[in-house]
Amino acid sequence: MTPVGFISRGFRGKRRDVASSSRVPPGQYVVTDFPVLSAGPTPRVNLDQWTFTIQGEIDEPKRWTWKEFAALPSETVTKDIHCVTKWSKLDTVWKGVSVDTLMDGIETAAEFTTIFSDGGYTTNVPLDDITGNKAWVVYEFDGQPLQPEPLARAAVLGRLAWTLGEVVELVQETPRVASLYLNVPDWAGHLAGQHVDVRLTAEDGYVAERSYSIASPPEDRWLALTVERLDDGEVSPYLVGELKVGDRLELRGPIGGYFVWRAGDETPLFLVGGGSGVVPLMAMLRHRAKATHKAPARLLYSSRTLADVIYREELERLGSAGDGLSIVQTLTREKPMGWTGYARRLDESMMKEVALPTEQMPAVFICGPTSFVEAAASLLVAMGYAPQSIKTERFGATGG
Ligand SMILES: Cc1cc2nc3c(=O)[nH]c(=O)nc-3n(C[C@H](O)[C@H](O)[C@H](O)COP(=O)(O)OP(=O)(O)OC[C@H]3O[C@@H](n4cnc5c(N)ncnc54)[C@H](O)[C@@H]3O)c2cc1C
Repeated sequence: MTPVGFISRGFRGKRRDVASSSRVPPGQYVVTDFPVLSAGPTPRVNLDQWTFTIQGEIDEPKRWTWKEFAALPSETVTKDIHCVTKWSKLDTVWKGVSVDTLMDGIETAAEFTTIFSDGGYTTNVPLDDITGNKAWVVYEFDGQPLQPEPLARAAVLGRLAWTLGEVVELVQETPRVASLYLNVPDWAGHLAGQHVDVRLTAEDGYVAERSYSIASPPEDRWLALTVERLDDGEVSPYLVGELKVGDRLELRGPIGGYFVWRAGDETPLFLVGGGSGVVPLMAMLRHRAKATHKAPARLLYSSRTLADVIYREELERLGSAGDGLSIVQTLTREKPMGWTGYARRLDESMMKEVALPTEQMPAVFICGPTSFVEAAASLLVAMGYAPQSIKTERFGATGG
């Protein structure tokens, strides 16, 4: 457990949001863009087929088509949003229909609701939390119709306690990327693909939290994180640059039950990674390498330059083991002499050449910067991949 008052040696923080700090809870940071966090490919819905239904412990289900829904009385509301993934966005202006309007005339003894959305995502909320002028089904943001990108994600973090890991080894993977090996004495184990939250605390109590995928397979003794340093970032330059062997790092996890893969699953595996998005995929490949029965697997990995390729030697080794894993790489900013991989951004013809055939019904995991993940998932859906077979993890605009 974390001792009360733990300080991250040498961490000062950037305190970007001093002006608005009275409105921003500790650990949150203010964003100006909109981080998009959806669990799979963004669903594309034809408005002619769109419906909104309330059903369950009520006399008769209530159902609206898009036209009927858009004709309901609407309201414009201004709210600060504090997402569980640490970003806050202030003064957001939404237009939509109040849940009170939708519930008008509905009698129910139910105390809880389950909200279903396209793509299979569900979340449960007490009815009290969404009635009484507290929730709206919105279709406009800032005076503009919503882009086809869902904005919600839920996580149950309350039960996870912060703990301390000691840095036992630092490995420089590329000029900007390092792996941190941590000894976490009370670590309860994890699945390949999960992540942890890291919390840094400055001497004056200022805290910053970020998420990092676990790079080590469940079988390993140490917990490994692999972090790309963003020079103007707050947390990554501390983790790659300031942190030393022997330092302790506060973390909680493992987090995430969706973007995970278990060896022993016979389904072929198709992994697509951009930049540091290769980290959770590496945990899967390392986990696979230790398994007795190995499902066929392919990794498509995009980096800027050869020098930016993370885990380069290990990937070469894994890819030439002759155990059903093939690795295809693309470099987006150079084509070095003798390079036999692709040398361009991910595109349709590359995906068609590299993706496992849809008939094999592979499990697909895509990870990287948001734009990379969106592009890769859209290409696969256009090729006929079932959206439910594609799991995505977005690292954010810059990707980390
Ligand atoms: C589930 C998950 C797993 C992840 N796993 C990894 C991983 O394995 N490895 C990894 O390297 N990263 C990973 N990330 C990304 C990581 O969480 C961080 O986002 C990343 O390290 C950047 O953090 P930072 O504090 O250094 O940068 P930040 O300080 O958050 O800044 C990020 C960028 O945004 C800009 N910025 C930030 N705030 C403002 C502002 N107010 N105004 C203008 N610009 C601003 C900065 O200039 C910078 O370029 C993961 C993210 C998620 C969600």
